[in-house]
Amino acid sequence: MLILTCPFCGPRNEQEFVCAGEAADRPAQPQGLDEAAWADYLYNRDNPDAPVHERWWHLHGCRAWLRVQRDPHTQAILDCSAQGQP
Ligand SMILES: [Zn+2]
Repeated sequence: MLILTCPFCGPRNEQEFVCAGEAADRPAQPQGLDEAAWADYLYNRDNPDAPVHERWWHLHGCRAWLRVQRDPHTQAILDCSAQGQP
């Protein structure tokens, strides 16, 4: 079980959250992307062998979107910050 510390609600069980997967930064110039570049942005993730940044939604809490840095080997939550106000 993971414990995520929501910046608005404090430490909470992972079952209160929905993981939306690896966080991908939006393209700086989206109108200039071709279909292959869009598909890469939408569907392909790096899956690195290192700590990852993920987007989590506090569904059963404040409903804020959070940016979480997690180590996939140890499951340690390294950072949990807000992406917006709840
Ligand atoms: Zn919260």
